[in-house]
Amino acid sequence: MFEEKKTATTSIANLGEFGLIEKIKANFGIQDPTSIKGIGDDAAVIDHADKTVVSTDFLVEGVHFDLSYMPLKHLGYKAVMVNLSDIFAMNAMPTQITVSIAISNRFPVEAVEELYAGIGHACSRYKVDLVGGDTTTSQKGLIISVTAIGTAKEEKITYRSGAKEHDLIVVSGDLGGAYMGLQVLEREKAVFEVNPQSQPDLSTYAYSIERQLKPESRKDIVELLDELNIVPTSMIDISDGLSSELLHLAKASDVGCQIYEDKIPIDPEVLGICKEFSINNTTAALNGGEDYELLFTVDQNHFEAIKNHPLLSVIGHITEKATGCNLVTGLGQQIELTAQGWTSPKEEEN
Ligand code: ADP
Ligand code: MG
Repeated sequence: MFEEKKTATTSIANLGEFGLIEKIKANFGIQDPTSIKGIGDDAAVIDHADKTVVSTDFLVEGVHFDLSYMPLKHLGYKAVMVNLSDIFAMNAMPTQITVSIAISNRFPVEAVEELYAGIGHACSRYKVDLVGGDTTTSQKGLIISVTAIGTAKEEKITYRSGAKEHDLIVVSGDLGGAYMGLQVLEREKAVFEVNPQSQPDLSTYAYSIERQLKPESRKDIVELLDELNIVPTSMIDISDGLSSELLHLAKASDVGCQIYEDKIPIDPEVLGICKEFSINNTTAALNGGEDYELLFTVDQNHFEAIKNHPLLSVIGHITEKATGCNLVTGLGQQIELTAQGWTSPKEEEN
């Protein structure tokens, strides 16, 4: 998986920027009725009946991704997911994206095609249209910026700022997987650098590696909330780790929070990898990022509707601001959450 493909290559310089855009355009049609004009004019045109929400993110080679274990197709897919996740975190539905790339001449046209194959896969799976972007050269490395555009009825839009005392704190899916997947990939990369013949068997880490390389964003949760007739009081997506996102919600809502260590959902495979790497699993869930799950608060009267739902975990509740943000450990100790996350008492002693 770490071998470079040697099948290339057409140079981007030969094809030219316009040739490249034509190639991209040829593979992307318009499916969403709100996309009036896509790639090919000075600007895209969008017709939303409801409110429009917009979000942008950068992905920079060497900072946010490492191409030695991240195939370009996966990178394209992930770049879209990261942005759709922000739209879902507003309780909105994405409808369009734009993608801008700065790319060095070390990459052939085929590499751009791989990247856009991943972007295309994400677009068709999540039913969003690629309606524009920009293409330029970089002196070194690859930089991708995706902007996601979505829509929601005004009364459904969920901000970070609406959490109220006694609200339940809920998280979708499970946490820590993307971070532990990254630990496995980093270790295998180090082994590969020493011994290029090594062929690691990564099958026992499949879930965590997929969480790192091919994350999904939680469209299903936004649909579920709609079906359950629940509008969260606040919501954020988990890109930097549960701890940091909880602090964002609490700060924006001017409240405190209390969560319980034994309620944090962690997949059994992730628990196994934590053991292997001697990483505290609560630390992985609280501090590890890139899970792209949704963290939200709901009024207590929704407890019956969500308590046993397989995709949702109630992990705590909102408190008054004065109590701050705390984790109650399995042993009943109360520990303050910090922006860096949380250090288990045992690790602190070391
Ligand atoms: P301009 O000079 O007006 O910025 P461009 O030549 O950069 O126009 O772009 C032409 C069209 O191609 C526009 O619709 C633009 O949004 C689209 N486009 C350019 N680069 C990309 C890209 N990397 N991905 C998707 N669409 C792109
Ligand atoms: Mg341009």
